[in-house]
Amino acid sequence: MNETSVDGVLCRIIDVKKKDRGYGTNQSKIVRVVVLSDTHNYHDKIKVPDGDVLIHCGDFTKYGAVHHATSFARYFSAQMHPHKIVVLGNHEWWFSSLIKRIFSPEIHVLYDQSVEIFGITFYGSRFKSRYNIGCYTSSAKQEFNDIPHNTDVLITHQPPDNVGGLNVSLHNGKSVGNINMMERVLQVKPLVHVFGHNHNFNTPSFDQVEGCDTTFINCAIVVGKMSNGILRSPILFDLLARSDVA
Ligand SMILES: [Zn+2]
Repeated sequence: MNETSVDGVLCRIIDVKKKDRGYGTNQSKIVRVVVLSDTHNYHDKIKVPDGDVLIHCGDFTKYGAVHHATSFARYFSAQMHPHKIVVLGNHEWWFSSLIKRIFSPEIHVLYDQSVEIFGITFYGSRFKSRYNIGCYTSSAKQEFNDIPHNTDVLITHQPPDNVGGLNVSLHNGKSVGNINMMERVLQVKPLVHVFGHNHNFNTPSFDQVEGCDTTFINCAIVVGKMSNGILRSPILFDLLARSDVA
C-alpha cells in the first residue's frame, strides 16, 4: 500500500487524472479532497490531514447505533476542513429521516443530491441495492439514472461492479458492487468515483477501467471484520478548481 505522511498524518495519496472540463490554468486553486469511508465507530482513532473538502462515504456507525452517529457527527463537525460531505452507508439505511437532526447544518448530507464547491460538482447517491439483489429488474436498472452528467466527483457507499478488484469482497471473493451503478458511471464519466463498503485489504486503493478516465477509489478505513480494529489511512487527492471560479 502506498502511504505517505502529509502534515504528519499518514494518508494514501491518489493521483487523479485531470480531464479537460474547464480546469487547469496555472492560477487555478488546487482543491485538496480528503476521503474516509467505513470508519464503523473507530473515527476517534483516525487523524485526518488538512484539506478543503472532507468526505465520508458512509458506514460511520456499527449497525446503525444512534449514539455512534451522534459521536461521529461531533467528530466530523470538529474537523477544520471548510466543506464537508456525508452519504449514508448500508449500516445507516434507516437514518434518512433522522439524519438532518444528527448533523449540523453546515455539513452537506447528500441524499441523491449535488453540491458545487469551487465550481466542482460533487454528487452523493444514497445506498440503493444491497449487493446485486434486484439489479436486473427494469426499475432497478434505472436506479442511478439521476446521477447528473455534470458530476465531477461521485460519492456512493457501495462500489460499482467490474472495477478491477475494488468490488471483490474479502469475505467470499464475490462482487459487492452494483452493475446498474457501473452502467451509469460509464455514461457520466465523473473525474473521480469514491466509495467504500468493501473492507478487502488485498485489493489496491484505486483503479481505472478501459474506455473511462474515471479514477475509482475504495476509501474504506476498516480492514476485514469491524471487530478486529485494523484501520487504513485516509485517502487524499487534489483537483483544480474551475478556472472561472475565484
Ligand atoms: Zn463497512
